[in-house]
Amino acid sequence: MAKKQFKAESKRLLDLMINSIYTHKEIFLREIISNASDAIDKLYYLTLSENTGISREDFYIRLTADSEARTLTITDNGIGMSKEELENNLGTIAQSGSLQFKQENADKMENKEDIDIIGQFGVGFYSAFMVASKIEVLSKRYGQDQAYMWESTGADGYSVTECDKEDVGTQIILYIKEDTEDEKYGEYLHEHRIKELIKKYSDYIRYPIKMNVEKH
Ligand code: ADP
Ligand code: MG
Repeated sequence: MAKKQFKAESKRLLDLMINSIYTHKEIFLREIISNASDAIDKLYYLTLSENTGISREDFYIRLTADSEARTLTITDNGIGMSKEELENNLGTIAQSGSLQFKQENADKMENKEDIDIIGQFGVGFYSAFMVASKIEVLSKRYGQDQAYMWESTGADGYSVTECDKEDVGTQIILYIKEDTEDEKYGEYLHEHRIKELIKKYSDYIRYPIKMNVEKH
């Protein structure tokens, strides 16, 4: 399948993320986990109005780190995304007030102080490109049979193809860049580092966050 290009306004923020010198790259995990939580909320609200056969205790977010493959995988059993939703939600940046603000200011951000604004508003999904060279999003929408994978290495666009995925929900595979090792804090594939980030930024999440570490 041919690669599709990001919309112009999305591309600007994406470029900013990929080439980021932003010191708080670690906020990517907060963004990805908050999206997972939002997706679970959506399915949970649905279970209140119709019989989905799912109970609140079934919901979870799972993090799996594989230091050999250099992947960090975030899985949720929320509402998932259809093919169209993968295209529309991850190919474009939504026009919320804070996002518009960020876009308008993205051009002006030349030094760290300015870029700190990013941290205050939350940049969303694209922030994962600060730490990942490639992102795969496998998703199966509630009520649908076919799952799809959105895949991108950043600047050169994205593709969406059919894939196999048994469960409803979303799995985000981040291929962590080599240079994310932080002298002081260690790296994003280390269990203690991930736990620290969850505690720091995602303590308020109302669903269980489970953690797997692949041992080699
Ligand atoms: P925001 O969360 O502010 O809408 P994001 O860039 O974080 O912006 O996410 C863009 C959109 O992608 C979300 O609004 C949502 O529709 C979709 N999305 C992202 N992650 C998930 C997920 N894990 N499950 C379902 N939808 C998701
Ligand atoms: Mg978000």
